[in-house]
Amino acid sequence: MHGRNASNGEAIALRGISKAFGSVTVLKDTELTVNKSEFLTLLGPSGSGKTTLLNLISGAIAPSSGEILLAGRDITRMPPRERGIGMVFQNYALMPHMTVFENVAYPLRARREPSEAIRRKVLDALDRVGLNGFDDRKPRQLSGGQQQRVGIARCIVYSPAIIMMDEPLGALDKNLREQMQTEIKRLHHELGTTIIYVTHDQEEALNMSDRICLMKNGEIAQLGTPDELYFRPNSRFVAEFIGESN
Ligand code: ADP
Repeated sequence: MHGRNASNGEAIALRGISKAFGSVTVLKDTELTVNKSEFLTLLGPSGSGKTTLLNLISGAIAPSSGEILLAGRDITRMPPRERGIGMVFQNYALMPHMTVFENVAYPLRARREPSEAIRRKVLDALDRVGLNGFDDRKPRQLSGGQQQRVGIARCIVYSPAIIMMDEPLGALDKNLREQMQTEIKRLHHELGTTIIYVTHDQEEALNMSDRICLMKNGEIAQLGTPDELYFRPNSRFVAEFIGESN
């Protein structure tokens, strides 16, 4: 809920982005700027377009029209791997046959970094997510929360300028979710990385975000700070969605 660091430049800008699948338009002329170091949450009911927006930014899908700028540079047609955007997935997407160390090392090996640098960075990333000493385990020997910590370590290990998290706590129970929310916020403060976070959970969005982008039917219903959406909703939809508790 802190605005600090939220206006020292643009991390990502979407300019007039539309996306249709066949004859169905799922995003309509979207304008969105995410500031450097900002924690921005895409919030909205199922089917509102959150995943489509995330996939457009990562490059997994291409827009039907419009432009995507990364720190001012047009990346609309740039392949996903060249964008340098880190991803954390709901289902962790760890490789089951590899140790925790090798899972976290994977993005660095793909970049052909020297093994001593890899070792130092992997152990530092594991330390940051509280998994000191877990490097020799296999994912199946870890709890869900620990597996997601590995997923986060694998993302932060190569210091991406932007991290996108797609319902990262969706598979965890409520107590663990609250603990992990606090830890992700702490990591955000420590690293100063821009985070684009997707959830359908309004409490999670209110707890964690600098700003919330509330989606409805492929359009931005309201974009603002948690306080703005909570205390000054611009429509009945926003008031009802934000006011709902789980
Ligand atoms: P959310 O992540 O908010 O649940 P999505 O971005 O997944 O929403 O979906 C938005 C809309 O786009 C939904 O109506 C969904 O059915 C539709 N959609 C998403 N992907 C495809 C696709 N590949 N083909 C057709 N329709 C799709």
